[in-house]
Amino acid sequence: MHPTQPDPVPAPTPEFKQRPAAKPPSEFERTVRQMAAMTDAAAHPRKPFQARGSFIKRCDGCRMPRDFCICGFRTPVTTQAEFWVLMHREELNKPTNTARLIGDTLPSSRVFMWQRNAPSEALLALLQDERYQPFVIFPDDQPDYQHRVVAYDQAREAQTARIPVFILLDGTWRQARRMFRKSPYLDHLPVLPVRSSRKTLYRLRKPASEAHLCTAEVGIALLEMAGETRAAQVLQHYFQVFNEGYAAARKQTPASWSESMQWLSEQASHPVDD
Ligand SMILES: [Zn+2]
Repeated sequence: MHPTQPDPVPAPTPEFKQRPAAKPPSEFERTVRQMAAMTDAAAHPRKPFQARGSFIKRCDGCRMPRDFCICGFRTPVTTQAEFWVLMHREELNKPTNTARLIGDTLPSSRVFMWQRNAPSEALLALLQDERYQPFVIFPDDQPDYQHRVVAYDQAREAQTARIPVFILLDGTWRQARRMFRKSPYLDHLPVLPVRSSRKTLYRLRKPASEAHLCTAEVGIALLEMAGETRAAQVLQHYFQVFNEGYAAARKQTPASWSESMQWLSEQASHPVDD
């Protein structure tokens, strides 16, 4: 005989938690789309562009398949450090590009299309601006530019009045290497390698090794390096929600309410000033 016990109260089913509504695209995202539209128009003047997988209905704010929208979780953060993304043409139309997660989270981010023979005038002007201290983010694994490799804290000494800028070469590994080698206007800049013990959690593209971080993960490591702790956390959680969204879309099951979703929705209701 068992003593009669009251039925346990069922735990709330996480799937039913109200997901925040979609938002309009960020400034960064709008710029990427403008560049993509211009490129497409130049390449195919008569044909409207059809992206791969474009039969999927995507959210206008985050380009995720509409049922797996994540932009309601977008949480803009103010930082001293800035990101300037030099994006390879082939990244412009890829919904799996993760530089956009940085652009969505840090509204101060800027994006420029990389073109071998036509560097962005806006970028060239910014590189002359004394208010900024730009670093090219690139591994230090080749001997010929070792003299340019710096350590962040040391490089920032006596430069604290200037805004640190992380220039990200956004493309495949091969493309990034080409961008680094074929952009003479970057040749005078210090090279900052990202040393991180983290292994990549990005599953949408096959990395050459677990140590090859995707662009958003590089962003997280840089924010940690720059002491921008809260921004690093926000980006980490937003990246996690992005991964969860894609995993759920692949299985065609609604993404269940996760710790990262909870964390980000709490930021929205209790904003913290840095
Ligand atoms: Zn969305």
